[in-house]
Amino acid sequence: MNTSRIASRVRRIKPSPSTSAADRANELRRQGKSIVNLVVGEPDFDTPAHIRRAATEAMDKGATRYTLMAGTVELRQAIVAKLQRENGLTYAMNEIIVTSGAKSAIYNAFAITVEPGDEVIIPAPYWVSYPDMVIACEGTPVVVACPEANGFKLTAAQLEAAITPRTRWLLINSPSNPTGASYTAPEYRALADVLLKHPHVMVMTDDIYEHIRFDGEATAHILAVEPALRDRTLVVNGVSKTYAMTGWRIGFAAGPSDLITAMDTLLSQTAGNCCSISQAAATTALNGDQSFIAESVAVYKQRRDRTLAQINAIPGLSCATPPGAFYLYINCGDLIGKTTPAGKSLQQDSDVVMYLLESAGVATVAGTAYGLSPYFRLSIATSIDILDEGCKRIAGAVAELQ
Ligand code: PMP
Repeated sequence: MNTSRIASRVRRIKPSPSTSAADRANELRRQGKSIVNLVVGEPDFDTPAHIRRAATEAMDKGATRYTLMAGTVELRQAIVAKLQRENGLTYAMNEIIVTSGAKSAIYNAFAITVEPGDEVIIPAPYWVSYPDMVIACEGTPVVVACPEANGFKLTAAQLEAAITPRTRWLLINSPSNPTGASYTAPEYRALADVLLKHPHVMVMTDDIYEHIRFDGEATAHILAVEPALRDRTLVVNGVSKTYAMTGWRIGFAAGPSDLITAMDTLLSQTAGNCCSISQAAATTALNGDQSFIAESVAVYKQRRDRTLAQINAIPGLSCATPPGAFYLYINCGDLIGKTTPAGKSLQQDSDVVMYLLESAGVATVAGTAYGLSPYFRLSIATSIDILDEGCKRIAGAVAELQ
């Protein structure tokens, strides 16, 4: 292994488990199996027409060249306005950087701050990429299990216990992928009280699902609850989920200017600016007609309610109602220890997921990928017909277990 020409920090990271699950499902499909794919974590809607039009117009007007590394003035102004309007957060232009998706914002924020061995507190279940991003920066992910009984959320006591002198960041993702768990203002208050005692800990908020809420609540923000954290908080967001723009690759970070400047320097020497055409489209997404959000959320909600009811009717499975995002994180603890018709014992959630895939052709992702077992994740960002078929197959496969 030491002779590998791939650096050890890269050898330590794993390929994304959701990509691997999707690859396996595609392979089975190529072999002629009928596969219901409930893996994909992206909106199944087209990007709204007025946003697509803005891209065409931008191309026609010659917006086809390099932009400022931090993003066009128009887009950063739109982000400043969005943060003020929607989150009550005040930022200046030099406190914003546009990145190639929220993913790049998170990775680059770690890249500019994490020294070897620095710790990043990641509440589990977590989005699959967080720990590997930390590892890629030679940091140490400190995973804190947040059980279903606590709404899959980090408590103040857990945070206090996880902080060490080496803690660099606390990462908050609300609503969360994969559980939809969303912190309330009082919950943020409790976390903020702990953070105020530990000034060396920075806070990264991944707000990518903020608008995908089903309970009529506006998504709270820790900075709105405790503005004193502003100087050590990095707000990460983007247009991928809210405006069905995953392929356009526009995310952003807002934070203290030293962090933003360092990200600007690193990105200017590595990736360069984001696609000029996508930036024009994202500007229109943020400044333009917002009705797509309510329309798409209404559709997600219908799917969530219908799929949740079907899953919860299956003996052996249970799923808490996710208040946001577009996933169901299903508890399959009661299936552990059961035996498949082929005589295989289900020892862990990845066995359950493999059984559902191989025997029923339903592709999902095992809880092990998200750091909290025994669960599996199913995406509701697909049609009702596909979801119904998936639930029917899951019910059939579970009924055959002994
Ligand atoms: N954060 C979370 C929690 C996500 O689920 C995703 C997408 N799967 C991202 C960030 C990445 O978003 P983007 O497309 O903006 O890179």
